[in-house]
Amino acid sequence: MMGDYEKRRRQMVDVQIAGRGIRDPRVLKAMRAVPRERFVGEGMEEFAYEDAALPIEEQQTISQPYIVAAMIEAAEIVADDRVLEVGAGSGYAAAVLGQIAAEVFAIERHEPLARIARKRMAMLGYDNVHIRVGDGTLGLPEEAPFDAILVAAGGPVVPVSLKEQLAIGGHLLMPVGDPGNQQLRKITRVGQDGYEGQSLGAVMFVPLIGEQGWREDGRQTR
Ligand code: SAM
Repeated sequence: MMGDYEKRRRQMVDVQIAGRGIRDPRVLKAMRAVPRERFVGEGMEEFAYEDAALPIEEQQTISQPYIVAAMIEAAEIVADDRVLEVGAGSGYAAAVLGQIAAEVFAIERHEPLARIARKRMAMLGYDNVHIRVGDGTLGLPEEAPFDAILVAAGGPVVPVSLKEQLAIGGHLLMPVGDPGNQQLRKITRVGQDGYEGQSLGAVMFVPLIGEQGWREDGRQTR
């Protein structure tokens, strides 16, 4: 059975990831290493290598493999980087990040999801990936600065706290815009007060809910 998953994982990387233009060998290697079937809900394992996001607990989703790879490649992470992920969800993207970066901190607002993700990291021995519970729109000031920040949920604007916690020279990737009209933004911190931004295309993510994101009722908090 395991051999079967390995084969499907290799095919997934060849067709969905490399086949769509992801070239960074570290990203391809990491995607070949992390067993996505261990990050989906029970009974969903057979769908783990589909070219799609899948439902997880708390009405959330594990992102499509391609978008995980595309965001990580765009973040230009190197081996000694410290990375923040906002929206840990299943923990899958954090686990992939952990194969590339030195240290990964991933925040999730739903405690049950964080608990499951933390258990998965322990079972797989991914001890450089730290799962925290909280409002990721505020970042993790006690662990900042971060060489890269990936936000796996879409907000109205890039939270100021996250921009402040980005190291100079670092990259932040985040879906920005109204639900149904999100663009993946890449922000690079070029100096103490200098940021450059570009759009990498349309994406579809669950909402980023928090003090510097959307309110539970869908309105903008600030
Ligand atoms: N990266 C995840 C994975 O690999 O499974 C996918 C994450 S899912 C698309 C987005 C996650 O962001 C959800 O689990 C949601 O609960 C979480 N989220 C939304 N707003 C958040 C916030 N302010 N702080 C932390 N997590 C948040």
